[in-house]
Amino acid sequence: MGKKNIDWANIGFGYIKTDYRYVSNYKNGAWDEGALITDDTINLSECACVFQYAQTCFEGLKAYTTEDGHIVTFRPDLNAERMMDSAARLEMPQFPKERFIDAITKVVAANADYVPPYGSGATLYIRPFMFGSDAIIGVKPANEYQFRVFTTPVGPYFKGGAKPITICVSDYDRAAPHGTGHVKAGLNYAMSLHAIMEAHRNGFDENMYLDAATRTHVEETGGANFIFVTKDNTVVTPKSDSILPSITRRSILYVAEHYLGLKTEERPVAFDEIKDFAECGLCGTAAVVSPVGKIVDHGREICLPSGMEKMGPVTQKLYDTLTGIQMGHIEAPEGWIHVIK
Ligand SMILES: *Cc1c(COP(=O)(O)O)cnc(C)c1O
Repeated sequence: MGKKNIDWANIGFGYIKTDYRYVSNYKNGAWDEGALITDDTINLSECACVFQYAQTCFEGLKAYTTEDGHIVTFRPDLNAERMMDSAARLEMPQFPKERFIDAITKVVAANADYVPPYGSGATLYIRPFMFGSDAIIGVKPANEYQFRVFTTPVGPYFKGGAKPITICVSDYDRAAPHGTGHVKAGLNYAMSLHAIMEAHRNGFDENMYLDAATRTHVEETGGANFIFVTKDNTVVTPKSDSILPSITRRSILYVAEHYLGLKTEERPVAFDEIKDFAECGLCGTAAVVSPVGKIVDHGREICLPSGMEKMGPVTQKLYDTLTGIQMGHIEAPEGWIHVIK
């Protein structure tokens, strides 16, 4: 066996079936021991709770090859903890953290031939998810669940450099106060699909969602958290109970403070402040940081001083430092890099 014959630099972000997936089923109040399997399909009752009442949550992380040839993942313990929080909010049983990390390790090791080589820019995307699997017609949580992890190789997020994007202020809300915005649930994405398609039809790359209660504060996009940089180089990120706690964003704040010596603030960010910021970026596992050049609020354009040609200088430093830590040429904080093999 050797690496699959795949054109790593040009695969894009689509599903490519790999050889193994990890499955554990929950029945009679307990998870079974779990196993790697080869069947990529799932056979379920038409009345499974996931189909009727969307009882499902997920995670997303990447495995990649470091400069010295190891296959690693980045902070999978935080994905495990976040999935436990998501499960609790959706009245699903929690899949234990140690078992989650073990499942990730096994499924990536089994699909090692699909982990793109160092330097290709491509990664093996890992998708853990869980769903209510038995038939439920009266509204209540399922009795049985499946926890599953599959992987798919994905291409470099930025082909030919990270070009700043244009985003628009959405007229739709992503998450209600005291709702489910802070958990990684499929339901948050189902209702974002119309909003993102509208944004695309109007020529924008992404939506900026404001807080649903007052529509005066910045929350996040459909799948990434915001960071802003002030004119005196403070890294600011919005704080709200309805934002999904991005692992990338939390890591960037740590890097800003401990590696770059920058001031950081996690606080409510008023939409009216944006015009005074120097840089803006979106953070998430897929892109790490994607620069924002322009924010459009119903025809009113806010152009970030960093412009539409390249990342702002502070965003670039954050990006270089975090990806350097991930790829193994900058020393990582204790526990950040999980070596698979
Ligand atoms: C997954 C996700 C993010 C990014 O989180 P990471 O842990 O950095 O990948 C941001 N916002 C939403 C709504 C998400 O679902």
